Amino acid sequence: MSQTVIDLGRLTLAHGEGTRLDVPVRLDPFELGGQSYAAVPESPVVRLDVSRPSGGFAFRLRFSVHLEGPCMRCLEPAQLDLDVEAREVDQAETEDEELRSPYVDEGELELSRWAHDAILLALPTQLLCRPDCAGLCPVCGESLNDNPGHHHDEAPDPRWAKLNDLKLE
Ligand SMILES: [Zn+2]
Ligand SMILES: [Zn+2]
Repeated sequence: MSQTVIDLGRLTLAHGEGTRLDVPVRLDPFELGGQSYAAVPESPVVRLDVSRPSGGFAFRLRFSVHLEGPCMRCLEPAQLDLDVEAREVDQAETEDEELRSPYVDEGELELSRWAHDAILLALPTQLLCRPDCAGLCPVCGESLNDNPGHHHDEAPDPRWAKLNDLKLE
């Protein structure tokens, strides 16, 4: 998987200068709760502002991303549009870890990794086909969205209860 990396030296920024780049960044699928969510398109264009305060770099990342994957409750297709914004600073000559960016290594900004993590931080805890998704029947697995009145009179089959335990892990 090709990673998008920005060579900071090649930006040839003097102290006090800044620049703006619009870069397509390829994103690996996101693994959440055992499901996979993909960015569509796979390489959204990311706007990167780079500035050079004295002694280092400051970065600002902004982009919109569209994610698609299964609903976490009913497994029907779900999608989500996210606006992502993140900032980083990296001071070259410091012992203070707070001032080092984990995405800057050997004079390169690891843009793919940063964009990926920024999306994870911006994600809601649940990705649903719709906010009020009713999910699946815990007894038989039927979609409760399609069958709102669905219910069972008999006691649940213990085999399904086991499956539900597994799903929660
Ligand atoms: Zn759903
Ligand atoms: Zn049922």
